[in-house]
Amino acid sequence: MSGLQFDQAELRRLVRRSQRRQRDAEIRSTLGYRAHTKARSTGTTVILVDGYVQGVESPGLGDRWALICDDHGGVVCFDRYEDARATIAHPEHWCPTCQGYDEP
Ligand SMILES: [Zn+2]
Repeated sequence: MSGLQFDQAELRRLVRRSQRRQRDAEIRSTLGYRAHTKARSTGTTVILVDGYVQGVESPGLGDRWALICDDHGGVVCFDRYEDARATIAHPEHWCPTCQGYDEP
């Protein structure tokens, strides 16, 4: 392998890492952000937010903790934070697109 090829591979690796960090920073800056994960079952990113801060639910009207499938925009809300955490890695149970009901 020539030095040039090595440098290009290294450059691609560094660019990918930089893009991942950029994406990670974007996800963490989501309004009401609490946690996120990449679901193994679907390969999609799910973000857990405070739905009252995010604005998807209102105090007294809806459940506070919202899971958002970042790839498809599917949303589900939970009263208990623990329930949202328990479901964060399984958008195939609540995101219509991950479930195959909606086209991506
Ligand atoms: Zn989805």
